Amino acid sequence: MDYPGNLFVVSAPSGTGKSSLVKALLELDSRLVVSISHTTRGPRGQEQEGREYLFIDEPKFRQMIERGDFFEWAEVHGNLYGTSRHAIEERIKGGEDVVLEIDWQGALQIKKIFPNAVLIFILPPSYDELLQRLHRRGEDSPDVIEVRMKNAREEVAQAQFFDYVVVNALFETALFDLKAIVHAQRLKYAAQRRNKSLVFRALNLV
Ligand code: 5GP
Repeated sequence: MDYPGNLFVVSAPSGTGKSSLVKALLELDSRLVVSISHTTRGPRGQEQEGREYLFIDEPKFRQMIERGDFFEWAEVHGNLYGTSRHAIEERIKGGEDVVLEIDWQGALQIKKIFPNAVLIFILPPSYDELLQRLHRRGEDSPDVIEVRMKNAREEVAQAQFFDYVVVNALFETALFDLKAIVHAQRLKYAAQRRNKSLVFRALNLV
């Protein structure tokens, strides 16, 4: 499947700064849209229905799995999360660049369906720093932090299956790296042929 839009998939262990980086990237690049996932977990803090997630209960989620509504879904930290077909298919067919912020299991499922998807893994600079960030964030109890740190070691081991790796030691540097990946993807031959069709035609390129 070769669609005119690009699909960027960003994964990282919790506390790495993935959401802040993706948010900053979207603010800088109006051609990127983020896909809103479905989840069975309840809203946290200021989260709003349809903005961070589409919040649904487990029976409804299971129904959607059975209907084949999801491109991918996974259980993460005891809750179910999924990317619906509706969230991305029409958009990339229409030439939009879509960002998915999902866990590594979902990312690898997406790569099977869309081999052209660009998989980006964000790493923390060290486990010590990750631990400090989770404490600073102040969202999780010590028990939850312990579970997240244990999961982080397993998640980090998946980075080798991704196309790109960004180390979030310094926010601005990591953001620059993300922008570079998006930019490079848009310079690929197939993309340039679509976007610079007049130049290509003038140069008799197919
Ligand atoms: P949180 O509950 O902290 O928002 O998200 C927990 C984890 O689930 C994060 O790693 C997040 O990226 C991941 N996640 C969010 N949406 C999806 C999704 O649609 N599919 C998958 N596989 N993971 C998701």
